[in-house]
Amino acid sequence: MFDARELHARYADRVILHQVSVAVQRGEWVALIGPNGAGKSTLLKAMLGLVELTTGARSVDGQDVRSLSREALAAKVAYVPQKLESVPPFTIGELVLQGRYPHQRGFAFETQADRLIAARALRAVGVFELVHRRLDEVSGGEAQRALIASAIAQEADYLLLDEPTSGLDLHHGVQILDILQELRTTSQVGILMASHDINLVSRYCDRIVLLVDGRIAAQGPPGSILSAAQLEGSFGEGLDVLEDPAGGAPFVVPKAGAGRTSRTAAAPPPEREAEPRRAESGSMPSDEQRFSLDRRRWLRALGLGVAALLLALVLCPLFGASWLNLGDAWREGPSGTSVDATIFWNIRLPRVLLAMLAGGALAVAGATFQALLRNGLATPYTLGVAGGASLGAVLAIKLGLAFVVLGFSATPLFAFAGAFASVLAVYALARAMGRADSTELLLAGIAWSIVSSAFVLLLQYLSDPAAAFQMIRWLVGGFDVVGYVGVVQTAPFIFAGAFALLALSRKLNLLSVDEGLAAARGVDVPRTRTLAFAAASLVTAAAVAQVGPIGFVGLLVPHASRALFGSDNRLLIPLSLLFGATFLAFADAFARSIVAPAELPVGVITALLGGPTLVFILVRSRR
Ligand code: ADP
Ligand code: MG
Repeated sequence: MFDARELHARYADRVILHQVSVAVQRGEWVALIGPNGAGKSTLLKAMLGLVELTTGARSVDGQDVRSLSREALAAKVAYVPQKLESVPPFTIGELVLQGRYPHQRGFAFETQADRLIAARALRAVGVFELVHRRLDEVSGGEAQRALIASAIAQEADYLLLDEPTSGLDLHHGVQILDILQELRTTSQVGILMASHDINLVSRYCDRIVLLVDGRIAAQGPPGSILSAAQLEGSFGEGLDVLEDPAGGAPFVVPKAGAGRTSRTAAAPPPEREAEPRRAESGSMPSDEQRFSLDRRRWLRALGLGVAALLLALVLCPLFGASWLNLGDAWREGPSGTSVDATIFWNIRLPRVLLAMLAGGALAVAGATFQALLRNGLATPYTLGVAGGASLGAVLAIKLGLAFVVLGFSATPLFAFAGAFASVLAVYALARAMGRADSTELLLAGIAWSIVSSAFVLLLQYLSDPAAAFQMIRWLVGGFDVVGYVGVVQTAPFIFAGAFALLALSRKLNLLSVDEGLAAARGVDVPRTRTLAFAAASLVTAAAVAQVGPIGFVGLLVPHASRALFGSDNRLLIPLSLLFGATFLAFADAFARSIVAPAELPVGVITALLGGPTLVFILVRSRR
């Protein structure tokens, strides 16, 4: 039994739930009805622990919910929210497979069994044909059915559904309720479902809970709740109740006289041409094939990324002011003393490696910020991290600081501190604006970027020409290094941050769909957000501190990868690392060879190469 007792919840100083107690048995179907704003959604959320409770106790199968881990609860109780916070950038297949996440640990991926369960759920709700279609390219009803399939795939003991049929036509609504009916009879799933379709649910449910103004006004079997007097008291006037001549649950209808009289002879709705039912069995192999195609695509994408990176590693050191005799350089090794060996091992190679580290870092940070903020415009730049780093670096140059701590010199240290301080500033600003939510965070980041670049200009203006020139060189960005100190100093931060983000990538997928749903699927939302934000800021700060604020990588690479290989962060994050590294290495190779022996700022190249590439990929992927 999923038992919630005396839930008392409030938003600000308004009490929404007044000591509400509800319980669902395994195999029982409870319908939650009530007028708009009665607190139905809030009650479901309160049962899942998604809204703060003043008082109340919840238990599942006799166990106190507080003694269960989030994952353990998610494996027992599945949730279908009323609507998602945004249209996530995933395909229907990806959304449904997310229902399996509560059953996975660590870096584990879906197994073939998970894929079959997902395929079966998709098939049941009738959207299997759309498995590779993105959610922003399907109808609202199709998306809603996919969301339900995702919860079914979770294979929980209890299903909490918030108006799951509100966007469906009658045929599909009935189809969904039939599936739920089967789940509760064959798998003893306990169902608690908020709904406005009183007539439909009263045909299925065992018990109706009537919620009015955050209090339970009545509960009992449909026949006892659906009376004209009861409904009039709860929903206001205008409803009437007719007995079902066939002896089933009564009908709730508009009072006589509502609508146009010529049609009150309520002919049954014209039978809509039913969607051709897919064969129910016999095609399991094809299900498997369809889903396993994805895995091959993943391996291909990763293979492509690794190949691109290796190609960059081999080709990029060849570019530069002079041609090298690579054979000699190789033969002599890193300790070689010839000019070729020195240039290759001490100048070209560390430079390429640093560009790769920075490119991977900026791209992976961009991908993370975009998932966290559910906004494609979120990048290290727009969030003000790069601006903060610039301000720190420029300040260090202005003050003429020349100390060294643990091998780090003052300018990168200050840039690093500036980047982190600006993350905190952006968080604080967002909090001051309201909730630390995605839009507020992005607005705060943009505001902070503008403020910090104004300070940078001011500091430049106040500096003598030599310092001002030094500042401009830093702001333009680049990989002017000799030897491996920069690489060695940067790599640990970037590897640590990237590893953390890889570990968080499954949770990032859930977060980029809906925070409430993510929490109901076992994600500690505040902790995950903070960790991912910190890791993305760490890699950005480490990269920018070494190479300056190089723009566009964090926007271009994640968007291009997403357009080509999809939005699953478990693939997108490693791909961003690989392609970001490749892209920046090549951009730098161009920058130092196009006008050799002079060099162009690499930021110019990233923008000139990246802008058209991004537009081209986006336009093509939309076709
Ligand atoms: P229902 O699902 O029954 O239509 P809800 O549970 O969504 O109603 O809302 C109950 C009441 O709580 C409504 O008056 C609504 O305006 C209010 N409410 C819902 N969500 C929030 C929120 N995030 N902040 C403040 N008030 C809210
Ligand atoms: Mg609601």
